[in-house]
Amino acid sequence: MGLDVCGNSTALELIRKMIQKGREQRSIIIHGEKGLGKKQLARYIAASYLCSRHDGEPCGKCRSCTMVMHGTHPDIINVQANANGNYIVDDSIRPIVADSAVMPNESRYKVYIIPDLDRSVNTAVAVQNILLKLIEEPPAHVVIIMTARSKEIFLPTIVSRTLSLSVSCVSEQECMQYLRENTEQLSESQLAEAVSAGRGNIGRCLSYLEKDSFYDSVQAARALCDASVTRDGYSILAALHGVEGKKALARDCITLFGEIVRDACADRLGETDEKLSVSCYAQGARKLCSSLSASECARLYDTVCDYTGRIDANCNLSLTLNSFAAKLSQAV
Ligand SMILES: [Zn+2]
Repeated sequence: MGLDVCGNSTALELIRKMIQKGREQRSIIIHGEKGLGKKQLARYIAASYLCSRHDGEPCGKCRSCTMVMHGTHPDIINVQANANGNYIVDDSIRPIVADSAVMPNESRYKVYIIPDLDRSVNTAVAVQNILLKLIEEPPAHVVIIMTARSKEIFLPTIVSRTLSLSVSCVSEQECMQYLRENTEQLSESQLAEAVSAGRGNIGRCLSYLEKDSFYDSVQAARALCDASVTRDGYSILAALHGVEGKKALARDCITLFGEIVRDACADRLGETDEKLSVSCYAQGARKLCSSLSASECARLYDTVCDYTGRIDANCNLSLTLNSFAAKLSQAV
């Protein structure tokens, strides 16, 4: 696996300058939505810090870079959460604090990567409290990189001592180019279909091509959009029936549907710049826009945001979906 990072040139430039000036930041938060390459960027930063050329970016050729590419570098420690995404502090976080006192095996730094801290809903605060001392006064060789979808999960005391880097979407052309170079035996039309669903989010596009969870969420969101265009309560209920009993799918479907509605609202307000649209179903957004008034669009968007929050708040899924179907039928 290569060390390239697609897009995100501002973050890469910052890393390069820090290293060239010998002022490497030792605690870093990388935040941004799923699929935008947070772990890839964390790996790139680790490779840049450890590269024997040490000129701001990984050379891709030295012994250190080769080990990073093979996932065998002894001075990069990828901290593991349990199957539910929670970090068990005694199993995975306290050992970091103990290990941080030990010098690196062969590089100038030892890099601890703690991915998806926001998924660790039960222990995110405990994890940060344990790491705080290490982040406040790190030994000269310690680097900690944490990732999360949103910066909100981090304690203010942690944020104030770390460098925050946000990852963003790449252009659809860059995304298409990346897919051409990193996928095999797929036609241009298959790649274009993935880009129209995942837009500038490479992780989403790859997931779509692999018919992974994102693919299912897109199909469900498109079905819900088509049902909303018909303004038929039964069709809406039937579309939501497909996500019944599957909380992650239901949440992703409603989030993606929210993006379609957001695009429809923008269309209604006369915002015609295609580059600003975000949803996986541009055609659906246009259909919604032409079937709803501006105030109906806005009301629909509020309803969708409200229900995304309810699903996150661990409501009974079946009851929430039924209530959502009823509210949607009223909103359209
Ligand atoms: Zn190198």
